[in-house]
Amino acid sequence: MTRETRELKPVDGKTLGYYCCGPTVYGPTHVGNFRTFVLQDVLRRVLEVGGTRTKHVRNVTDVDDKTIRDSQSAGESLEEFTQRWTARFHEDCAKLNCLKPHVEPTAVGHIPEQITMTEALIEKGHAYPSEDGSVYFKISSFREYGKLARLDQQDLELGRTQNQRANADEYEKDSVSDFVLWKGRRPEDGDNYWESPWGEGRPGWHLECSAMSYKYLGETFDLHSGGEDLKFPHHENEIAQSRCACGGEFARNWFHPRFLLVDGEKMSKSLNNLYTLKDLAQDPGATPMEVRYLLISAHHQKQLNFTFDGLHSAREALAKLARAGKELARAAGKAGVEPPAYRELCKGVEPGVFAPALEALNDDLNTAEALGQLFKGTRAAMEGDPLVNWVGFHAVLAALGLILPDLERPQAPPEVVDLAEKRQEARAARDWAAADAARDSLKVLGWTVKDGQDGYELEPL
Ligand code: AMP
Ligand code: ZN
Repeated sequence: MTRETRELKPVDGKTLGYYCCGPTVYGPTHVGNFRTFVLQDVLRRVLEVGGTRTKHVRNVTDVDDKTIRDSQSAGESLEEFTQRWTARFHEDCAKLNCLKPHVEPTAVGHIPEQITMTEALIEKGHAYPSEDGSVYFKISSFREYGKLARLDQQDLELGRTQNQRANADEYEKDSVSDFVLWKGRRPEDGDNYWESPWGEGRPGWHLECSAMSYKYLGETFDLHSGGEDLKFPHHENEIAQSRCACGGEFARNWFHPRFLLVDGEKMSKSLNNLYTLKDLAQDPGATPMEVRYLLISAHHQKQLNFTFDGLHSAREALAKLARAGKELARAAGKAGVEPPAYRELCKGVEPGVFAPALEALNDDLNTAEALGQLFKGTRAAMEGDPLVNWVGFHAVLAALGLILPDLERPQAPPEVVDLAEKRQEARAARDWAAADAARDSLKVLGWTVKDGQDGYELEPL
């Protein structure tokens, strides 16, 4: 909000309330989205490894224009459709070693809360029902509208005086306008509507985050985050809704990582230039950790251009770190020993020669500098106490959420990963015969697959 770097400390002195706008589950989450989710995860980890407790809330948008439209073209119910894509999102998050949020509320699971908030806004004069059974937020009733995105005052005046309305969930900056809180039922919504004081309808996209952050974090909380595109209109609208309905400060700090680009353009479904973890596993055979490394390799306030070369460098960097880690473990008398558990590292450790890497992370989450310092640390790690340095090394890895490859274990080749993914898809579709066939083919190639809570692991036979 102030464009300053500020000290991030829990307002209640105990637990840092952290809200992240989650995925809209209408397709696979692409690695562009994951730049944001991974950096949000690194921020949480850095806080926790630094001894700050967090309460991390991240919603799932399971009803909006896009989920309704695409569930219909898929011939599935909204629930079936969004649950399938939510499961895939969770699998990908697990592969990327992202911590699970403490609360993961859904929009459909919080319809009464959204209705209550809309009622409060009408009562306080910040919203009005329209002829078609929708309810709009009146932006002229909130003088601070536009402050976060630094909207042009002229645009704002125009929006206020023309009193235009935006019914779509997403819109561009040149259409500053009263936005929809509750959408009256339209024929294209099909069965996706709920009863409300204004008739049948459904919530607009912006409302859910205000309702859910209030429910789980209260009227004022420490930190709110989403990709740079969410500043306007989404976060501007959330601020307006929450400040006017609940009266608190809403989010005290904001974290908007910048976009991942492909060939200089934003990665998005509509531009058809998106990569998923699965695409990258198939070609060029990249592991999720290589993707994670690449995503955190630049400062969050710089856009990052996605390239296969970048993935290749990530592979080399991870292998280098793995070799250094082994050497360090040997020196510390910890060869073959599991690194300290995340929970242990969060109790506070002496980082030895890796202190500068943690300092870089604590200074505006400078992941690029931290990676540089991590390498520097490995070159100095034989100085001082190897045991201290070994723990410090793992504290930095834990803060970055990196898991190093086991160099002795062969990496599954792309065709094996492909088969395992096909088996996973068959299982999701309850096609057990196809799943078994894929398992048999894997066996022929010398691999077996072990199922876990959030996915699978491949092991050579
Ligand atoms: P969505 O599912 O579209 O609501 O997006 C989920 C998250 O991904 C939001 O925080 C977006 O701001 C973020 N996001 C979308 N596209 C990109 C991109 N190309 N690079 C980084 N973050 C993105
Ligand atoms: Zn949101």
